Amino acid sequence: MSAEKPRPSVSPVLVLFRDDFRLADHPALSGACATGQPVLCAFVHDPETTRGDAIGWWLAKARTALENALSEQGGTLHPLSGNTPDSVAAFVKAAGIESVFWNRRYDPTGKAQDTALKAHLEQQGVSVHSSAARLLHEPWTIRTGAGTPYRVFTAWWKAARAMGEPGRCLPAPQHIPFAALPKAAQALTAHAVPSVPPLPEGADAAEADWPCTEADAQEVLATFVDDNLAHYIQEHDRPDKDTTSRLSPYLRAGLLSARQVWHAVRAAATTPALAENAEKFLSELGWRDFAWMQLFYEPDLAWRNLRPEFDHMPWQKSPALLAAWQQGQTGYPLVDAGMRQLYATGWMHNRVRMVVASFLTKHLLTDWREGEQWFQARLVDADPAQNAMNWQWCAGTGIDASPWFRIFNPVGQSEKFDPTGAYIRTWVPELRQMPDKLIHTPWKADATLCRQIGFTPGKSYPNPIVDLKLARGIALECWKNLPARKESGG
Ligand SMILES: Cc1cc2nc3c(=O)[nH]c(=O)nc-3n(C[C@H](O)[C@H](O)[C@H](O)COP(=O)(O)OP(=O)(O)OC[C@H]3O[C@@H](n4cnc5c(N)ncnc54)[C@H](O)[C@@H]3O)c2cc1C
Repeated sequence: MSAEKPRPSVSPVLVLFRDDFRLADHPALSGACATGQPVLCAFVHDPETTRGDAIGWWLAKARTALENALSEQGGTLHPLSGNTPDSVAAFVKAAGIESVFWNRRYDPTGKAQDTALKAHLEQQGVSVHSSAARLLHEPWTIRTGAGTPYRVFTAWWKAARAMGEPGRCLPAPQHIPFAALPKAAQALTAHAVPSVPPLPEGADAAEADWPCTEADAQEVLATFVDDNLAHYIQEHDRPDKDTTSRLSPYLRAGLLSARQVWHAVRAAATTPALAENAEKFLSELGWRDFAWMQLFYEPDLAWRNLRPEFDHMPWQKSPALLAAWQQGQTGYPLVDAGMRQLYATGWMHNRVRMVVASFLTKHLLTDWREGEQWFQARLVDADPAQNAMNWQWCAGTGIDASPWFRIFNPVGQSEKFDPTGAYIRTWVPELRQMPDKLIHTPWKADATLCRQIGFTPGKSYPNPIVDLKLARGIALECWKNLPARKESGG
């Protein structure tokens, strides 16, 4: 048996940062500071939870911003490496840490890792303090009268509102009493800190679009509240207006918390008109919690049809159609604008996300999991819960989903939500000279107009890759023929 390591006279406590790269409203950090003991801060570069795509870039930037914020106060974000339970357990032992603080995770891998780590640490006599920080309401806290998870958003939201306001936000600690890293633990953090990975090919605009510090996140929130909350109901579906909050990447990396967003919006709701807009906005924020609740209870949300009859859907497996969709070359201007916005900036307006998802799954009859994976790779807000739930919603395969027979017409959606084509012109420059009335259907431009504006159909811009009416008919036929089609959710 090895001899017990002598502990420093005042043992340090440890705060683990994971997708919560901020100082304010961070219960784990505040809890650690409140012990009065010296504090070590760490994150784990864990291959099991680290992604190398747009979200990998974004999370690494957010982590770097936190490193800088801690270093301005004389501290360090110690980098650990490897499997989370093993690397943290080894660090705790080597540094003689007495207590560990973290904010809870709800994804299957995070949950399993934290459960294993907690059991191990407690066995070693180390106390573990976990807190709620990511959501407005933790997944298991809102249940039906029968004690089951809700399956319908409106009922869940009513119950969530009945619970009253989410808890108050914590201020950033005024002083963090940083501990010096004990010598015995230094070797565990001595490896090179993983740098920010490059952006995915073509996504160069993301760098300028997404300033990435905690202060930047607060500024994005304040600008939305001051300038755009008042017309949220009227404009949130309009990609050409671009007045939604654009907070999703900041919430994803935890540069700010959902509670902070909630309270800022509630505080601004000083008139009945603002209150109505605020309520609509908060219900959208509610969808975020609802998605996490679904992932909590359905860990395979990203790959299993929640309505099993869709296991029999005869999905097309056409690499050419999938590539045309991914690259924004379908010949349907709104779809292409959205896919190119995603490609260039790592983000897409919600209305357009719905249109491109409906187009892929229904008009191109392509498995929603292909779309889910492409979004997961390209979005700077890629989120395991929201991405999976929304894809299942759009494909009609999820619970409380848009039914399969609700097939968005990409031309009608374009005319309604981008009436002058301003959004299309931003992202599909080949169509900039098209008159407003043809911007949604450029294939209808006659030869004289084409000559005037130097446009060659099929060459300057692709002709439509599918006939909407025909494709819609096939999609409905396939759905009607699904064996044992029955309501399996709701
Ligand atoms: C196919 C598809 C995939 C999606 N994938 C993601 C994803 O990976 N990550 C992600 O954060 N959002 C995802 N969404 C939801 C939504 O499109 C984005 O949250 C929203 O566009 C972000 O822009 P915003 O912050 O300006 O939204 P706002 O309209 O300002 O809304 C405020 C916040 O509410 C939440 N929210 C809004 N709409 C939704 C929604 N439909 N579902 C869940 N939460 C919502 C987000 O946290 C958002 O930041 C997806 C939607 C679809 C249709």
